[in-house]
Amino acid sequence: MDHGHLHLDRNTGTVDPLSHLPYPTTNTRLARGGGTDMPAVSVYIPTPFRKMTGNRQHVEAEGADIGEVLANVDKQFPGFRSLVFGSGEEVPAHINIYLNKQEISSLQGIQTKVSEGDEVAVIPALAGGAGDGASQNGTAPNAAAPRKRIGALTAEQVNRYSRHIIMPQVGPSGQRKIMESSVLIIGAGGLGSPIAVYLALAGIGKIGIVDFDTVDISNLQRQILHQNDDIGKHKAESAKETIHAYNPDVEVVTHKVPITSDNSMDIISGYDYVINGADNFAARYLVNDTCFFLKKPLIDGSILLFDGQVTVYLPDKGCYRCLYPAPPPPGMVPSCAEAGVLGALCGTVGTIQATEVLKLILGVGDSLHGRLMLYDALAMEFRQVRIRKDPNCVLCGENPTVTALIDYDAWCGGAFGHTNEEEQKAADAAKALKANA
Ligand SMILES: [Zn+2]
Repeated sequence: MDHGHLHLDRNTGTVDPLSHLPYPTTNTRLARGGGTDMPAVSVYIPTPFRKMTGNRQHVEAEGADIGEVLANVDKQFPGFRSLVFGSGEEVPAHINIYLNKQEISSLQGIQTKVSEGDEVAVIPALAGGAGDGASQNGTAPNAAAPRKRIGALTAEQVNRYSRHIIMPQVGPSGQRKIMESSVLIIGAGGLGSPIAVYLALAGIGKIGIVDFDTVDISNLQRQILHQNDDIGKHKAESAKETIHAYNPDVEVVTHKVPITSDNSMDIISGYDYVINGADNFAARYLVNDTCFFLKKPLIDGSILLFDGQVTVYLPDKGCYRCLYPAPPPPGMVPSCAEAGVLGALCGTVGTIQATEVLKLILGVGDSLHGRLMLYDALAMEFRQVRIRKDPNCVLCGENPTVTALIDYDAWCGGAFGHTNEEEQKAADAAKALKANA
């Protein structure tokens, strides 16, 4: 079977280098054959799904609507549809499909008509953050620390933060805001590492680290908080030592037990901002839900293979479940432990998260709120899709079905074997409702 200039030999798995072209050229129209008048669109494939498409970033397919386009992708790459949809007919809760950056459930769902040259993107939820199996955790909290008050900066502080202070967007008052702020970092792993380092350097007043895991040699490929001599230490302790080595002024609070529905409210309530670097869906959803109930700003990031996702959720303005109502069923999206992650990718995504929290603290610029930033390191492309508060959201919508914290028994590195089935059904139903609305 010939796919035009995008040659894939499915027997050998080799791909013509031209297939890495980000957008189809007019030559690809030759591939469609058949002489139909159907519009041809470019379907963006994120790296977790790319093994199905011979490592192609884009696949051209024709069809009158999204459903036909995806069916045609499946014709070219059998198994693609079941990878995306599972056995069902509706787009599952852990997958979003965008037509030219707009999520299709806000259009006509999979019946949304397409036009020649449109771009369709199929984006799964990614669990990855710390990236190692069991890192997302916390300890019983202390009572919320009283907010720090910073008076005049000392001479040493003026020197240390001089490159901030001379910026008109920061100045001495902005630097004081940073020093009075508290930020909780979920996971001292791949994402938590660059986040913690840059926030420590910036002089954040209090940094909380939630992680019960210990440092393993396999962490050192990407987790820059930890070094060889730290192997075997609690990650939260190792993180504290690294932060203090960079900036002894930062107060570091370690939470070294698994974060659960029993302790997440106590832990999270002690901080102004929460940054999610969780490596598994259980922690990712628990942190999202807790931030919603406590009205805490959440800076969310996730990574897998060569892909990263980052966004910001502000109180009462949408949440992770607006985007992905429920975790994926077993095996639908691989974890970092199963699939791996490029170490340097953690730095890019984590640094964006650190940047976003600093902007929120300073009250400057446009945050990623309302936008999901997608980073494709293989193509070296950043793209954005619009996200919105979903009135049918199972958590923050008008008729929520998630009204209490849920402990998903699902960890990165294992199957998502015990996802709450009823809630998954409710989430899928909500999504179907949206799609048909
Ligand atoms: Zn929501």
